[in-house]
Amino acid sequence: MILVRTPSHKETESLLGYVVRVSETNGYESPWNILNRLGIAQGAMSSAGFPTRTFAPILGRAPEALDDIAYSLPASGDRGFKILSHSLGSGLRYRPLRLKHPAACPDCISEKGFAEAFFDLRIAVACPIHGKELLFRCDACRNPLSMFRPGLLVCQCGASLAESSRRPASEQTVALMAVLKAKLEGARMTDPAPAGLPAQALLTMPLRVLLQHLPKFAAFNRKGVHEDSPEIADGIAQALANWPRGFHEFLNDLSRTEQTVVFRRRYGAFLDQFFSSQEARKEFNWLHEEFLQFGLTYANDSIVDARFAPAKTTERRFISLTELSKRTGLDRRTLESWNRKGILPLQRVGSGSSTRYIADAREIRLPRNLQKTDLLGERAAAAYLQIPVSTLSRLKGTGHYEVKEGLHKSCRN
Ligand SMILES: [Zn+2]
Ligand SMILES: [Zn+2]
Repeated sequence: MILVRTPSHKETESLLGYVVRVSETNGYESPWNILNRLGIAQGAMSSAGFPTRTFAPILGRAPEALDDIAYSLPASGDRGFKILSHSLGSGLRYRPLRLKHPAACPDCISEKGFAEAFFDLRIAVACPIHGKELLFRCDACRNPLSMFRPGLLVCQCGASLAESSRRPASEQTVALMAVLKAKLEGARMTDPAPAGLPAQALLTMPLRVLLQHLPKFAAFNRKGVHEDSPEIADGIAQALANWPRGFHEFLNDLSRTEQTVVFRRRYGAFLDQFFSSQEARKEFNWLHEEFLQFGLTYANDSIVDARFAPAKTTERRFISLTELSKRTGLDRRTLESWNRKGILPLQRVGSGSSTRYIADAREIRLPRNLQKTDLLGERAAAAYLQIPVSTLSRLKGTGHYEVKEGLHKSCRN
């Protein structure tokens, strides 16, 4: 048997959406009528194993005709799952697909006449074209959308889905959706960095890696939110928007309650989540680089130990008092007392016996082959004293001028 109407599928069409469209265009109440005739089990409509090669012949097409939009292909050496041309790996435990209860952008369906594969991704919660959250439930009966509905824009209860009410999505979520949709469809983006997202870095990564690891951001900044909530995508987008500022804020929030000043330990949970697997470490190298950069130059409440960033030891901006003492040759107690007097700015972390001081190496000038006979300008004098110029100026204003003057003179002699 061949159906009366046999529309061909679109390049970016959802496989299961296509099955609903074929059923609707042939006037059936539900795709079940066709599946039943082909001996395809009902469960296939909520499974990545939908047998496209059993379905295609009823359209008068070769069994392989739907391979490009299938989620899996029968044993041919490759038992993996996929969406369009992207591999999803050999297992779906990370649930990349939203199969049982689909989501839709009724506006897209109205305009294009088909449901896009993008909305089969569980991470897809908003439409980047219409800027609204997707439709998950029917306004009339409040039931989740079903694959066994009579039409793409008709609920099982008979209500039209075309005019459903949907909330606008946040700008950052819409931007993330635009990047992911472009990735899935291999399309060019009109805005190369919407909402300041690191779109180019994201686009070069395998889709599977993005789907598997991006939600981990939300495990930190959207704690306790249900894994199917649109909030998850918003958490991801927030961590990556206005790159890298958004990421730095994400990291700052993350360590607010941490007591340790050791950078590596402060962000232990984050490191474990994102960089413990070899693959993630490799694919997210751009994220790791920025993470290190944040530790080296922005995180003034922690210290990146030399072993953690061996290639970048000289770039470390925040150092312990012990290291400052070693670098300057000045006694720890001197440095501490200068800090108490307000001459040497140090960041104080923790309290009581666990108080630690962190110095900003950018503010400390180290001596450079100074000869005692040099006539010292203010900058050089500060260098000789191993204190910042600003500190030297402050010395003059706070009555420590004499001390400085003495040393200054001794330099001249
Ligand atoms: Zn749309
Ligand atoms: Zn309904």
